[in-house]
Amino acid sequence: LFAQNCEFLWAADKSDGLPPMGPLEIAFAGRSNVGKSSLLNALTTRRTLARTSHTPGRTQNLNFFDLGPDAQNPLLRLVDMPGYGYAAVSKEKIANWTRLMKDFLRGRASLARVFVLIDGRHGVKDVDREMLTLLDQAALSYQIVLTKRDEVKKSAVETTLDEARAVLRKNPAAHPEVIFLSSHTGEGVSDLREAIVKLVSE
Ligand code: GDP
Repeated sequence: LFAQNCEFLWAADKSDGLPPMGPLEIAFAGRSNVGKSSLLNALTTRRTLARTSHTPGRTQNLNFFDLGPDAQNPLLRLVDMPGYGYAAVSKEKIANWTRLMKDFLRGRASLARVFVLIDGRHGVKDVDREMLTLLDQAALSYQIVLTKRDEVKKSAVETTLDEARAVLRKNPAAHPEVIFLSSHTGEGVSDLREAIVKLVSE
């Protein structure tokens, strides 16, 4: 699946600019700098993906990528959600972001799961909790992925995982399994791949 072509499909900055539903979708959310672009690259072994989503002006967009043998026959759609938690963003921008997220998450029947990326060095922050609450309200399936595992001491890995699991116990729509990975070393990336393959084959 991940060796397939991955083509940029669509960018949306408004709710009425969303692409029509097509193949099964999985979305990736997280605070800016959490390592989302690095992970998308590690998953798909494509560099253009991150470049696309980091293009100025596109960072506030929902970016859609199709994976599959050809553009007419996609197997899976990746949705790169705009990073949240910038300190220097205006209230208006935050309001726009929230509206776009709510509109996208609500009634997107093709959306199979949202992977919420959380920096493994910092753990779950308030903005992350807000995202989880949004997902609970939308009654969507979501799963926590801790990033930058290579930066976390071996002795702290279990504690970090336990903290994340504890947060999830309060969030009914959450998948109980937490993934801890590093895009730099590749450790744990196969766990995420397996979770995605499982979703596609269900
Ligand atoms: P984004 O803003 O969420 O798309 O984050 P990026 O993928 O651009 O990464 C933000 C920063 O974190 C960059 O400096 C990356 O090199 C770094 N980073 C991303 N993934 C990892 C990782 O697995 N390990 C480490 N140590 N750093 C990472």
